[in-house]
Order: sequence, then structure tokens, then C-alpha cells
Amino acid sequence: MNVRLPFRNLIPTFFAGLLDDPILLLRTRPDGHHVMFDCGQIHHLAKRTFTHLEAIFISHAHMDHWMGIDSVIRQLIAAGKTVSIYGGPGLAEKFDHKLRGYDWNLAEDYWSSFRVYEVHSDRLSHDLFCGAESFQRKRLADLPRENCLIYENDYLQVSAASCDHRVDSLIYRIDERPAYRVDLDRLEQLQLLPGPWLGQLKQGFTAGGNFPDRLSVQRSRGDQIETVDIDNPRELGALLMKPGKTHSCGYISDVGFNPQNWVKILELMSGVDLLICECTFLSEAKARARASWHLCSDDVNALLAELRPRYFLPMHLSRSYSRRAHELYRELQCPEDTKLLELPLQLTPRPLIADEVSWQLFDQ
Ligand SMILES: [Zn+2]
Repeated sequence: MNVRLPFRNLIPTFFAGLLDDPILLLRTRPDGHHVMFDCGQIHHLAKRTFTHLEAIFISHAHMDHWMGIDSVIRQLIAAGKTVSIYGGPGLAEKFDHKLRGYDWNLAEDYWSSFRVYEVHSDRLSHDLFCGAESFQRKRLADLPRENCLIYENDYLQVSAASCDHRVDSLIYRIDERPAYRVDLDRLEQLQLLPGPWLGQLKQGFTAGGNFPDRLSVQRSRGDQIETVDIDNPRELGALLMKPGKTHSCGYISDVGFNPQNWVKILELMSGVDLLICECTFLSEAKARARASWHLCSDDVNALLAELRPRYFLPMHLSRSYSRRAHELYRELQCPEDTKLLELPLQLTPRPLIADEVSWQLFDQ
């Protein structure tokens, strides 16, 4: 399905069918890097998808959202990369247990490493698993966390909130970072002349960018051009920045429908352009949804009425509906301005049974 979404820097691919384990892949342009959300069955992802992977965000460690991490390690092991993994409290220990299930006596210096960040309310805990050292777990210093933001690169920011699914389940919001565009009218008002110094300011506004302590700029005074030293380049940069529209995407996977989660979802997802949300059950199975702390179509309709995203992609429908998936789309009531996006039931071909394989061995 090709839908023209409003993003400038984000290219989302939902790498799963409606009944499959959910996987959202976001490619950023122009750098071509990938970030991934959830990691269940991922055998169908091409190897080069992994070589561009920068970070993985796990909602929770139920098998259908986490078991594919073994494949990630397998595909990346010789890539010499460091990939970050974000998830709820306890994820580093689970990752450690997975790694300890294998022998790593052949470790090489060029093997990849993994940083695991557990998202707590006030901090991110940080563990390093270095491939060259056979993935021995190393605890590193916690990072303080003052707001919902947990990750950023040059093109996007990821924020998270912890919801209840009878285990912690993180919901994620991905915002495009605004491009630094110079307000030329403001530049003229201040009588400043464009020059390489604008590039230095722009660099300060990229992720992890630094502003110089001082900056020399040219100013025109009638016929004269004078050089002025600026003490606070960040302030000047903010003054000259032209506000631009950015877009966002929300990812909600496996949450119960209760008042606490409702508040957190509305707070984090307010104004998202594309909402991707689990809808595990149809309306008739509300009791099952409540018992397993998932959403049913009525719950999703209530969320849509509040959030009114421009695009909505329902996902993670229970496999028990494999012959009734069309009923989901009948039950969903999108607000007038929301476009409903539909997934194929399953993205990859049906698995084979033995009789379908032409190469077989028989007893003579
Ligand atoms: Zn779950």
C-alpha cells in the first residue's frame, strides 16, 4: 500500500500484517538510518535493514514483541555497530539472559555491541553489552530523565510513557525534528549579513550539536561592514530560527483500557498525524480484552474520537479472527478527517507443511 503521508524526514514501514507480530520500521531521510519498534517474528526482514539500524524500541517483553532480538543479534554480529535498545525496567536482565544462552568464545574485536536503556519515570538506566568482550554485561551510569523524551538523532525524537498491560508496556511517540531554517526577514531587520556563521548556528541545533562559545558575525552599517562578536550564539540562533511545521507518529502496542492508561495515552499522543494502535479484539470480546489487558474496537473508537489523527493504522488483531478480519474495519469508526489504513492479513507467505516440499526422502 502506498499512502502519501505528511512526513518530511520519516518513512514509516509497517513490517507486519494485521495478524502478525507488530513491527514498525522508520527510515529517516536523507541519512537512510532505521529505528524499529517492537521485535517479534522478524525473519522476513532483509539483512541490509539491520545494517542501517540505530535503535530498537520495545513496548514490553511478551514473546510476540521481543523474541526477534535473537535475529537482530545474529544479523548484526559482524557489522561492527553499536545499536541501542530501549524498553521497560528489567529489559537489560532479559537481554543478558538471552545472550547467556549461547557460547561466545569466538568473539572478535569487530563484533557489534548493544546498549540497553531501561526507561524509568525519572531516569534511563544504561547497560553495555560489548561484542568484543563476549557480551559481558557492564552497568554504566544512569541518565537523568526530566520529560518524556528518551532518544533523539538529527531527524527525529522519541518520547515514551509507561502504561499498564499487567506488565509495564511503553507507548511511543516519534516527532520529526524541525529543520533549522533561517528567518531572512529577521536577519535583515538585525542588519546581519549571511555567512558561514549561519552554518555554525545550524549545527548547534542538530541532535547532540554544540554551539561555539563565541561567534563572529558581519553586520552592515550603511556602507560599512563591521564584525561583531556574539557572546550567546544559542540565543541568536533561536532568534533567527523560522518556525516550520513538523509531523509525528504514535505507536501503541498492548495496553489495558483503564483510566490511568487513558490519561497517559491522550497526553503523549495528542496531535499525532499517524496513529498506529493495537486492536486485539472485536467489540463482542470486550471481556477478553479486559482480562488480558488489550484494547477492543470500542476502546479504539473512543481513543480515535479524542485524538482525531489524520491517519490511523489498526494492527495486532488476534489470530482467532483470521476469517473475520473484515469485521474489524466495519466496527472501527474513524472521525470524519481520519483516513483509515488497512494492512494485509499476513505479510509473508503461509509457512509450509512437509507435504508441500518437493525435496523429500523416502524409505526404500
Ligand atoms: Zn503483550
